[in-house]
Amino acid sequence: MLIVQKYGGTSVGSIERMKNVAARCLATQRQGHHVAVVVSAMSGETNRLLGLVNQLQEDHNDREVDVIVSTGEQVSVGLVALAIRAAGGKARSFLGHQCKIITDSSFSRARIVSIDGQPLRDAMAAGEIAVIAGFQGVDEKGSITTLGRGGSDTTGVAIAAALKADVCEIYTDVDGVYTTDPNIVPNARKIDRISYEEMLELASLGAKVLQLRSVELGMKYGVPIHVRTSFSDAPGTWVVPEEPSMEKVVVSGVTASRDEAKITLEDLPDIPGIAARMFAPLADANISVDMIVQNQAHGGTTDLTFTVPKLDRKRSVELLKEKVPDIVGEAGERIAWDDDISKVSVVGVGMRSHAGVAKTMFTLLAQEGINIKLISTSEIKISCVIARKYAELAIRTLHEGFGLSLAPSERTGL
Ligand code: ADP
Ligand code: ASP
Ligand code: MG
Repeated sequence: MLIVQKYGGTSVGSIERMKNVAARCLATQRQGHHVAVVVSAMSGETNRLLGLVNQLQEDHNDREVDVIVSTGEQVSVGLVALAIRAAGGKARSFLGHQCKIITDSSFSRARIVSIDGQPLRDAMAAGEIAVIAGFQGVDEKGSITTLGRGGSDTTGVAIAAALKADVCEIYTDVDGVYTTDPNIVPNARKIDRISYEEMLELASLGAKVLQLRSVELGMKYGVPIHVRTSFSDAPGTWVVPEEPSMEKVVVSGVTASRDEAKITLEDLPDIPGIAARMFAPLADANISVDMIVQNQAHGGTTDLTFTVPKLDRKRSVELLKEKVPDIVGEAGERIAWDDDISKVSVVGVGMRSHAGVAKTMFTLLAQEGINIKLISTSEIKISCVIARKYAELAIRTLHEGFGLSLAPSERTGL
């Protein structure tokens, strides 16, 4: 088999831990498999590098920022390759440009366009373990790019897709994907198998155990993803195509995201074309608007509320003031915003065939006195925007209320 193993920051957080990684890779190779390893920066290193950048500028969407933050992975690949050698194996390190991980030029959030698997295949055919730097790529002009926080997951799955690997193992500091973040809810339960679709929703709604793009690639190229820990041999969570039995589980997981902000426009004239004119400047600036709610106010006016990524909130307000002053008011008196929000979501493919999940969710939040500011739903998820300070309480309440600490077969009703 050909196995891609991706080790997160904690698994390569010290030389001792890198020796453990080396031993694992070699054990896998000794079983007769070809092994390609993707590694993250040592834990804390990317934050340290970003801290240096932040002393000079806030904007991370910059060529030079990627030159800096990609260095953490350069150190890790070299050290892991040395650790494999020290353990008696053969290894070769590869930076993004050395296995041609070509991306677009969106610095700090680049997307992979193509990968040349040949240098990696050659190394593995020569008995070497290929050790690849996660998180980084190179654009058409040869500039170094990075794939966004958590991007080594995406490197791992993209390499697995390019090499047509049998599995991509993601080694992290928890032993699988849980019903919610086990660091927030200690009695969260490990999920044995989860569909790509549910994992996509969880990842996009805040569960950072896998970067969203890695799940998208896994689904697109049919790469089975096995999330597990490097500290034991216990099986973790398999992310795979949906299986019939999965629909029996109504709610698979609960998650929260803190990266959105809410913008409200009050007392808008209730006439056609207002929404179209308002969202145009945001779309032109590539700002993605997520939830939108319009309320009928008294006296023929409406209130319009929507969310944008928190990083884009300031620019969104500026753009609206500049481009549609007649809508937001000459002095911006009709526009207000709230950065202290959190979006809590429940996810499950079983929602397709079970009614009543929304009612239960709203009731559980109401019982705790948590006010819902916005709601959005899709076939397999329900999200509510609430005040940030209630996020952890909401997660615990929903996790308990939907019985997620119990085995799926023991969960009764909703
Ligand atoms: P790595 O450095 O290995 O990439 P991350 O910190 O990116 O690790 O991701 C692992 C973390 O994801 C866990 O420590 C946990 O706090 C968090 N997490 C959030 N939601 C979940 C979930 N549903 N299941 C497991 N872990 C989760
Ligand atoms: N080192 C990068 C980060 O901390 C990429 C990763 O670990 O996945 O975001
Ligand atoms: Mg991660």
